[in-house]
Amino acid sequence: MAADSFSLADFDVIGFDLDHTICKYKLNEVFPLIYYSLAKNMVEKKGHDKSLLEPFELDKDFMTKGLVFDVITGDLLKLSGDGHILKASHGTRILSDEEIQTDYGKGRLWSPDKFQQLKETLKQTDDMRYFENYFDMTGAVLCARMVDIIDKKQADGKRPKTYYSFLSDMWQCYGYSYNRENFAANKGLFFPPIKENPEKYFQQCSKEMKDWLKSLKAAGKVVFLCTTSHVDYARHLLQYIIGPDWQSYFDVCCTYARKPGFFTGTPETRPFYELVDDVEQAESIVTTLEPDNIYSQGNALALLELLKKLTGKDDPKVVYVGDSLRSDVFPMASLNWSSLLILEEMQAEGLITNGDKENDGSDGDTNNPPPKRKKYSLPDALEIEYLLSSKWGSFFTTNNNISGDGKNENQTGIAAMNTLWGYFIKTYSDIAVPGLEYIIDLPLDHKFPTFSVEKNRSGFYPALPKALATP
Ligand SMILES: [Mg+2]
Repeated sequence: MAADSFSLADFDVIGFDLDHTICKYKLNEVFPLIYYSLAKNMVEKKGHDKSLLEPFELDKDFMTKGLVFDVITGDLLKLSGDGHILKASHGTRILSDEEIQTDYGKGRLWSPDKFQQLKETLKQTDDMRYFENYFDMTGAVLCARMVDIIDKKQADGKRPKTYYSFLSDMWQCYGYSYNRENFAANKGLFFPPIKENPEKYFQQCSKEMKDWLKSLKAAGKVVFLCTTSHVDYARHLLQYIIGPDWQSYFDVCCTYARKPGFFTGTPETRPFYELVDDVEQAESIVTTLEPDNIYSQGNALALLELLKKLTGKDDPKVVYVGDSLRSDVFPMASLNWSSLLILEEMQAEGLITNGDKENDGSDGDTNNPPPKRKKYSLPDALEIEYLLSSKWGSFFTTNNNISGDGKNENQTGIAAMNTLWGYFIKTYSDIAVPGLEYIIDLPLDHKFPTFSVEKNRSGFYPALPKALATP
């Protein structure tokens, strides 16, 4: 990411993530479904405490995107871009500033080694897990509840030395929830309800959205889909949100891509496989992709060979659109692809608006006029209750004036985007929008300023999140 402006017209290829990008989920429905699927497996298959099944809604206000779980201390952390602890909880209890300083020192610095590795690689380790997307976020609530349960059971009233004991169970239970075979088999707790009632969980694409997606191919762009979902689930979803002709919107579809590995793997380590009747053919490795096909697994390098062929260019310009900073945004740097981030938190927290024209998409800047359509469908009031957390505060910044990066006001009157995830946004994405709906009315050659122009603000469209404005 280097250019100061971003225009879809400049790209030869536009790639899309599916879940939470093209497909908007009804978060107030899918979060509890994911949580109970996880928690029930923890209780029934792994024998953990039944109190995990207490209403998920009780911790609605605890849930937020981007928490880091320190497996040694059992603390959940909201970190700054330079490794300071902005906020923390032990279990579901938010720690006071004094407690944070007692546990981590006056400087409130988290383990510098762990932090450096996290910031540079976004790799999860045995000592540290983080929750950064809508499929894994409810896991932070489960971790917090587990820590409460473990502490309560300590005979001596002291904390255990580590909180490793339940983590492998939790990852196995995620596996049970999302096991791709469960969709076809109609098994498990996650897929069957979604298979039965797609309308409860997915929002259908508007006609305008479909027209816009179609217009990309019509404008000569190569358009691909790259999703971690297995093909049968992706098909179910796409048929519901787009319609039976969904495949015609894409030049090629990569399923079960298991990002971010898809973007960093090689043809040797992560080959593509052929699909027959939605079943992956273990013996049929695909080395040369063909257009108008759907593949399983794979890697970006082999995909790039097809993109070169379809564009007739040796070095096609590619942008990938997705919602996960870890899986969709961060890996783009190594491919030299651009990145458009879908970030519902922008709208959930609120955008800076012009006077009383709430959510009209205007930031009052005449060079950046609001889009014509004003009725955005996302996210609605019920979903916002899950996305916002009064306990943890803004996804973008915090009011604690403690970190070097966190001088909360700079010369331009814009609050610093000082969270770790804010760092990833401004460093690795070109622009960020609350949803695709916000850009489909714009001409393809609309020029968006990128985060390169002014790091704390310029890449947000249609406007700056409210938390970044000084009062
Ligand atoms: Mg996604």
